[in-house]
Amino acid sequence: MDDLRFGKRNKRGDFTPHETVALPPFWRGAFGLRDLGRFALEYVWPWNAFHMATTLAYWYLVIPDLETLQTLSWGWALWLYAVNAAAIFVFYGIFELRYYVLQKQERRFKYNGKFPAEQPSDVFWFQSQNIDNFLRSFFISIPLWTVVEVFMLWCFANGYVPWLGWADHPVYLALLVLAAPIIHEVHFFCIHRLIHWGPLYKWIHSVHHNSVNPSPWSSLSMHPVEGFLYHAVALWHLVIPSNPIVGLFQLHMAGFGAVNGHLGFHRLELTEDTVMDGHAYTHYLHHKHFEVNYGGDGLIPLDQWFGTWHDGSKEGEARMEARYQKKVERMNAKQAKARQTPAE
Ligand SMILES: [Zn+2]
Ligand SMILES: [Zn+2]
Repeated sequence: MDDLRFGKRNKRGDFTPHETVALPPFWRGAFGLRDLGRFALEYVWPWNAFHMATTLAYWYLVIPDLETLQTLSWGWALWLYAVNAAAIFVFYGIFELRYYVLQKQERRFKYNGKFPAEQPSDVFWFQSQNIDNFLRSFFISIPLWTVVEVFMLWCFANGYVPWLGWADHPVYLALLVLAAPIIHEVHFFCIHRLIHWGPLYKWIHSVHHNSVNPSPWSSLSMHPVEGFLYHAVALWHLVIPSNPIVGLFQLHMAGFGAVNGHLGFHRLELTEDTVMDGHAYTHYLHHKHFEVNYGGDGLIPLDQWFGTWHDGSKEGEARMEARYQKKVERMNAKQAKARQTPAE
């Protein structure tokens, strides 16, 4: 497919789409049935439907029985780790294999004109983004995901927190499932904004940002503190009255869903003529510019409210530049003041 019908490519080979990221219709004042219908469909299909499918598969096939869950033990914790690791290996691996190893789509729709394997760097373990990201995902973040999972299930199984049944509370729990993406968005924005604060950024979040040109394995490549905080979104279901299936859904949205922002391609060609729209642009712009788009696609438009929204438009770019300029001025003023203070 000719990607230049949908965007342009610069000298370095980086693809920039013509379309910008649109906020959900109700934030744009669009309340037409067509807009709302399309939003509702995309809210469910394909990503959240997939997360619910894996959640139910886990619940019925993977999660041990209640009696086992009541006692913490390495046996079932390691079993859950093994399944999480295998599932991510297969799910992320499909994207990695097709688009990065076999390069079936070559560089069409690819935001960054280079593949990570072409750019060895000292910031990565073994100078390889792929090896570094892979090892961090499987030996740091996925174990921490499992820690959150084990703790949550153990709390539910022992009755330490309310376990609402589907038969007694069908409407409330259905609404909670629908609210899970909102919880994800707000939680992610808050922890992400926090670890962008200078000292925490250097200590924690710079690990994730080493991947300026993200690929699927970058999704969960995190410092342990971030790896825990990110998956800890599921622990909100120990605070609000909930059900372990909804908590697990929340966890899968984080663990499996992270790949969404790190695909590196604007659209994924499935066949010659059919493409799947990615949702990677917002977070790609975050990896590129660092100080924009701390949240996702604006389900709750926190970035817009805090002035850090970049939708890929010229106006978005100008707003970001103006903020940088102000920041530089503030820093210069601070330094000038420090110089004026007479030495003791
Ligand atoms: Zn960040
Ligand atoms: Zn990222």
